[in-house]
Amino acid sequence: MQTRPGSAGSGAAPRSRPAVRRSPEQRAALAALQEPAAPAAPDRTAAVSLAGLLDRLSGYLPAQDLQLIRDAYRFADAAHLGQYRASGEPYISHPVAVAEICAEWKLDTQALMAALLHDTAEDKGITQAELVEHFGSTVALLVDGLTKLDKIRFSNREENQAESFRKMLLAMARDIRVILIKLADRLHNMRTLGAMTPEKRRRIADETMDIYAPIAYRLGLNQVYRELQDLGFQHSHPMRHAVLSQAVRVARGNRRDLVDRILAVTTKSLADAGIPAQLYGREKTLYSIYRKMQRKHRSFAHVQDVFGFRVIVPEVLDCYRALGVLHAQYKPMPGKFEDFIAIPKLNGYQSLHTTLVGPTGVPLEFQIRTESMHRVAESGVAAHWLYKAGESPDAMAQVTTAAWLQSLLDIQNENRDAAEFIETVKVDLAPDAVYVFTPKSRILALPRGATPVDFAYAVHTDLGNQTVAARVNGELVPLRTDLRSGDVVEIVTAPHSRPNPNWLSFVRTGRARSKIRHELKASQQAESQALGRRLLSRALQQQELHLDELDNAQWSRLLHWSGNRTQDELFADIGLGKRVAEIVARRIQMQLAAVDQRTLEEHAGPGAEGASRDTLQLDGSEGASVHYADCCHPIPGDAVLGYLGKGEGLTVHQQDCPHARRLFQKHPRSWIDLSWSPAVSGPFQVGLSVVVSNGKGVLARLASAISEHDADILHVRMDDEAGQPTIELRFILAVRDRKHLADVLRAVRAHKFVSRAARIKARS
Ligand code: MN
Repeated sequence: MQTRPGSAGSGAAPRSRPAVRRSPEQRAALAALQEPAAPAAPDRTAAVSLAGLLDRLSGYLPAQDLQLIRDAYRFADAAHLGQYRASGEPYISHPVAVAEICAEWKLDTQALMAALLHDTAEDKGITQAELVEHFGSTVALLVDGLTKLDKIRFSNREENQAESFRKMLLAMARDIRVILIKLADRLHNMRTLGAMTPEKRRRIADETMDIYAPIAYRLGLNQVYRELQDLGFQHSHPMRHAVLSQAVRVARGNRRDLVDRILAVTTKSLADAGIPAQLYGREKTLYSIYRKMQRKHRSFAHVQDVFGFRVIVPEVLDCYRALGVLHAQYKPMPGKFEDFIAIPKLNGYQSLHTTLVGPTGVPLEFQIRTESMHRVAESGVAAHWLYKAGESPDAMAQVTTAAWLQSLLDIQNENRDAAEFIETVKVDLAPDAVYVFTPKSRILALPRGATPVDFAYAVHTDLGNQTVAARVNGELVPLRTDLRSGDVVEIVTAPHSRPNPNWLSFVRTGRARSKIRHELKASQQAESQALGRRLLSRALQQQELHLDELDNAQWSRLLHWSGNRTQDELFADIGLGKRVAEIVARRIQMQLAAVDQRTLEEHAGPGAEGASRDTLQLDGSEGASVHYADCCHPIPGDAVLGYLGKGEGLTVHQQDCPHARRLFQKHPRSWIDLSWSPAVSGPFQVGLSVVVSNGKGVLARLASAISEHDADILHVRMDDEAGQPTIELRFILAVRDRKHLADVLRAVRAHKFVSRAARIKARS
């Protein structure tokens, strides 16, 4: 979208191709151009308007700077040669008019040069380098800023989009002069909008109301604000504007007598009191009348039923004296007096406001202020700064946003809300955010330092998850690149792509971070589920069962037992090693068997089942997934506990094992109650310590005693210290249970050479 009513677009004839077909306006303009005898002479119309501009500038710019202005004009004129506005005027008339508006605001030489050159880069392809070469880097930067603002497309009418756009515009324009020139540009375009098609007029008018008028208001450029609003109203609602302006014209005639009378009476009273004052009747803008009618659902007559006046005096003290005079003349309306001098508004506005009861009972609204208060009221804080700068043009050269903010501080230094005000402005001008675009021109606000990955997740979670690469302003960039305001960001995706855990090291937004974490976890979950399903299927296969054999009722019983909510959750638990596939498989086997026999579950019922839900029964056939701890070697009959290490499966400890106790303190949640199945079948390893008096054949006799009792010796270790009267033998035996071990111990102790025999306890 181009907000450039003056541009004739592609219809503009480049001077190198004279053979193109031209519109009648273009032909006329060309004819006018060729009329003067001297072929090199610039367009006469434009030359005239330059004279007007130079005249205005000579009032406040040093004489040597006027030559710089002339140079910029000549360059722009050459660049725009052959280009025409929709009105048929040579294009150069537009930049000159923009420069004239800037001159009204007393902008400095560089700003005026930039105003003259502001459309050359965008329309005529003049490069940044050329501008730097001819006019220096400051002017080139100003033009660049303006060109960038022109490129911004604003297609969405949403409220927050408008707000984002305003903020971005302010953020991008590091130099406040860029915004001021831009406003001048828009103001002139709005003033000359009549030549465009109704549709285009409406669109540009809407944009002006949404974007530029609020910016002017924010900067305190009240005159500009009001004019942009009125022009915007006129072009967005031409019929309403026409009807209303007719009504105002009529009403003005009717009111004139009364207004004149009040002006005369009041002027005399003030003069009698010795107060030098200027007195004006105030006209409301059409747009403010329209808004008031809409807002308050009032008729035009009702809205018009208020008369506004303004009194301007030299000194602050005069304001209060004038107030006294007015209150003596007309009766003040109670509760309608406001002192914005003692307590200025946040934007620096100062005045006394009072409403009086007029001759026929009509309300008379008076504003009383000094000259300088009036300047601020009309042009806001910008005015203060502009006037100050106008006094010393050199200071203008270094004007930046920061300096402008400083000038706000100067104005606000007696305002107790100064800090708050500066905060507000700072947020607007240097927001801690970057504003970037989707390829479809949606605007997104992201925190400073945000990357394309943050952008992708801000647009849509799926987009973030499938990101593989990013283009910023058309170029591929690393995903960790910091985005800047105005960047157009495009995300390259692949359908099966997954977030990279490395992204967590550079994403800036909480949203991206949590979405990446969530997705990584989810995909890990999916992998665990697949693994768990495989493990369980395999475990079932060994019992010649299959997962398909479980019907819904079986499943819900199984899940009730396992404490999982879903099958997937159970699979994931198995895959993550929180549950043992073999144990689950055996449970399934039991359930299926119970269904056949109609025994177990019927007796137990769901309630009784609950008691044993968390107690896993061990029967010694669990395979590699259950590990019996080497520290305490639990055997059937021992009180046991199960430790579920992550990915380690289940480790069985004795309840009084000191290792288990330490582990329990560290990970109290990783433990499950275990019990021994009545049908448990060994063998289980157990440690046995036997102290014997040293002698030949001792080990052989012990070994045969042990094996006579059906226990295998898996390992034996002997402390063979020469010269000792006794030695300790440490066995690892395979036994069925505690009773079996007791039998073995009894047989061992029966030998005379055994002085002590005991099961080895885990050492702490
Ligand atoms: Mn322009």
